[in-house]
Amino acid sequence: MKFKQEINRRRTFGIVSHPDAGKTTLTEKLLLFGGAINEAGAVKSNKIKKGATSDFMEIERQRGISVATSVLGFEYKNIKINILDTPGHKDFAEDTFRTLTAVDSVIVVIDVAKGVEEQTEKLVEVCRMRKIPMIVFVNKLDREGKDAFELLDEIEQKLRLKVTPLSFPIGMGYDFKGIYNIWESNVNLFTGDPKKDIEETVEISDLSTPELDDLIGTDAAENLREELELTQGVYPDFSKDEYVNGNLQPVFFGSALNNFGVRELLDCFVEIAPSPRTKESDIRLVKPDEDKFTGFVFKIHANMDPKHRDRLAFVKVVSGKFERNKPYLHVRHGKNLKFSSPNAFFAEKKQVVDEMYPGDIVGLHDTGNFKIGDTLTEGEQLNYRGIPNFSPEHFRYINNADPMKSKQLYKGIEQLMDEGVAQLFTLELNGRKIIGTVGALQYEVIQYRLEHEYGAKCSYENINVHKACWIEPKDPKSQEFADFKRVKSKYLATDKQGQLVFLADSSFSLQMTQQKYPNIHFHFTSEF
Ligand code: GDP
Repeated sequence: MKFKQEINRRRTFGIVSHPDAGKTTLTEKLLLFGGAINEAGAVKSNKIKKGATSDFMEIERQRGISVATSVLGFEYKNIKINILDTPGHKDFAEDTFRTLTAVDSVIVVIDVAKGVEEQTEKLVEVCRMRKIPMIVFVNKLDREGKDAFELLDEIEQKLRLKVTPLSFPIGMGYDFKGIYNIWESNVNLFTGDPKKDIEETVEISDLSTPELDDLIGTDAAENLREELELTQGVYPDFSKDEYVNGNLQPVFFGSALNNFGVRELLDCFVEIAPSPRTKESDIRLVKPDEDKFTGFVFKIHANMDPKHRDRLAFVKVVSGKFERNKPYLHVRHGKNLKFSSPNAFFAEKKQVVDEMYPGDIVGLHDTGNFKIGDTLTEGEQLNYRGIPNFSPEHFRYINNADPMKSKQLYKGIEQLMDEGVAQLFTLELNGRKIIGTVGALQYEVIQYRLEHEYGAKCSYENINVHKACWIEPKDPKSQEFADFKRVKSKYLATDKQGQLVFLADSSFSLQMTQQKYPNIHFHFTSEF
C-alpha cells in the first residue's frame, strides 16, 4: 500500500528551453515554493555561454555545484518532485536528450518576446516523438512581447503542438496587470514584488461580474472577457488524458523573475503531471509497481574530487524499491554489485539513503563500471532501450601528445566516452582514433579534462567526415557486403561497441554509396 502511494506521489520532470528563456529562474522559484531553499540566487545556473571555454573551466571548478543541480528534489503539497537538469547549450544537446529518457513529463519555457527558438524546437520535437506530456510556460510577461494569440499560434505551428491556455495574461509589459487563471477561475494581480510568495488571488468564477471591472478597470475587463471567449472558441477544453498521452499541451503565462504565475503552474502541475510511467525494455514493458527493482543509468558525472577518480552514476528507478546494500545485477557485465552509500538529491544537497522508489534518481558512486544506458535489475536479463547514439556533427583525429602517458590517455578517453561526452571511432585500416562530437566545444572539454583528471595530453587533427552511419547488411555473408568492405575500407571504423560504421566524407558520396550497395542499410543512429 505504502509502496503504491510512494509511486503515486512522485513527479519526475525536466525543464527545457532555449538558453536565456528563464529555466534557471523558474527552477529556483519552484524550489522556493517547495521550501527547499530560502532565498533567490541559491540555484546556480550551469549554463555555458556561447563558445566561451573560460565558462566551462569555471564550471569545472564549481563541479560540486553543477552535480548538485543535476537533480533537484523537493516536496510540495505532499508530492515528491524531482527536477532533472537539462543543459540548454546546443553543444550539450545530447546530454539533454539522454536526460529526457528519464523524465515522466516536461515543462517547456518560452520567452514571450523571442517566441519559439531553435533549441526549443529541437528539444520539443524529441518530447513529441516520445509522447512525453508537456506543459508550456510563457515567461517574462513583465516585458513587452508578442500578443498571446500570436504566440499560441506560433507554438502550435513551430512546435507542432496542440495547445490550450490554462491561464491568460491581462496586458503585458508596462501594462501588465496580471493573469486570469482559467484552471482555477481566479484573477491574480501583478504587483511586481518578487518577494511576495503568497499571491493574493481574487476568485472570479463568473466573468461578467462587475467586480472584475473594479479590479482591473473596465477596458481591461472588457478586453479580457472577449479574449477568453475567443480562447474557448478556438482551443479545446483541457483533458488530463489528452495531456498525459502527449496529445494536448496546456499553456501558462507568467514572469519567473517576479515569481508571478509560478504558483499557478506548480499547483496545476502536481495535479495533472503523471507519476512514474511504464517503461519499455528490450523484452517487455515494465510497470513501476512491480515488486522487483529495475533502473537504468542516464547520466554519469565524473571526478567531483579530482584527487579521486570517482564518478557518480545517475540511475532512474523504473520499478520496485531500490535498497542500500542489496546486490543488483549489472546486466551488461553480468555481475552483481552492491551499493553502500547510494545518494538521493534534495534541493542542492545530496544525502545517503536506504531506499528509493520509482521516479526517484539514485546517485551511485562508480569507479568505472557504468556507462550510459546500463541497466540494473534483481536478476532479470532486461535492458532499457532508448538511448541510442546519433551521428556526431564534428570529427577529428585524436593524437597522443605525450608518449609517456599513453596509458592515462586511453583510460581517460575510455571513461569520457562512457560518460557520453563524445563518441570514439577506431579506423579499421590503421587503428587511428577519431572523436566525434555534437559541438566544437566538446573538444576543448575533452582536452582540458584529459589533462586535469588523467594527466594526459592530446592534440587533434582535422579529418573530412560528413556523417557516421551504422552499417547493417541484409546478408553479412553476401558478395555485396564483402565488396563494400574492400572498396570502402578507408572509410570504415568501429564504434565503442564494436559496431561497424561508415564515415562518409560528403552527403554526395553517402548517396552514391547507398545507391551502389542497395542491400546494405545505412543507419543514422546506433540502435536499429
Ligand atoms: P536560462 O538560460 O533559461 O536558465 O535563463 P535564466 O533563468 O538564467 O534567465 C535568463 C535571463 O532572463 C536572466 O537575466 C533572468 O534574470 C532573466 N529573466 C528570467 N525570468 C524573467 C522574467 O520573468 N522577466 C524578466 N524581465 N527577466 C527574466
